[in-house]
Amino acid sequence: MKSFRTDLHIHTVLSPCGDLEMSPARIVSLAGKRGLDIIGITDHNSTKHCQLVWKLGRRSGLTVIPGCEMTSREEVHCLGFFEDFDALNEFQDFLDLHLTIIPNKPSLFGYQAVVDEFDYILEEQANYLGASLDVSIEEVEQKVHELSGIFIPAHIDRPRNSLYSQLGFFPPELKVEALRISKLADEKAVREKFRINPEITLVKFSDAHYPEDLGKTYTEFYIEDPSFQELRKALKGEDGRSVRIP
Ligand SMILES: [Zn+2]
Ligand SMILES: [Zn+2]
Repeated sequence: MKSFRTDLHIHTVLSPCGDLEMSPARIVSLAGKRGLDIIGITDHNSTKHCQLVWKLGRRSGLTVIPGCEMTSREEVHCLGFFEDFDALNEFQDFLDLHLTIIPNKPSLFGYQAVVDEFDYILEEQANYLGASLDVSIEEVEQKVHELSGIFIPAHIDRPRNSLYSQLGFFPPELKVEALRISKLADEKAVREKFRINPEITLVKFSDAHYPEDLGKTYTEFYIEDPSFQELRKALKGEDGRSVRIP
């Protein structure tokens, strides 16, 4: 088994809170410099930068997993990842259908730009992507799994926008491939505090909104090759695959 340094929670300039420097080209170049093997693109409630980052990553030997950070009706942040662009595009339709419509005010919320590989702005998203979807966390999870994706509730130990802060408990019906804990959180302490089932894998990623944070926090994946199916096996601890928070 080989080790792959993986950061699956990265925002681009498309997220209202994402720095203007976080263009697809910059992210791919930074990921190489920081020694990352696999990255995930997870803008708030949009997947529109995934394909470009994936294309630029492929040119430089970086594996890019298309994804999204969704905000459920209960204001829980959760990550979804998809194996191919058919699934990703279908998920984008789901987001378009369910995002609460609040016109974006760039001066207040931040810019939400889709750019090209040369950092030229192609379009700005009119609706605020930090708004929540009008569907429950269970419905979001079911949609991700219907599309054979990976579902990971984000920063579960945080005092807001997390599974435990918003719901107060782990819904028994919810199916997760892993749970993501915050950068500074201690894995053992989080497990004890929330009494997390030992069979559930915990992971850490950077949640980078600024260039300096990208790749600062990561998880090592012990897998055969940097593919979506291998990542899934590692999260589920199958066939000798595993993950380790350094
Ligand atoms: Zn979040
Ligand atoms: Zn985030």
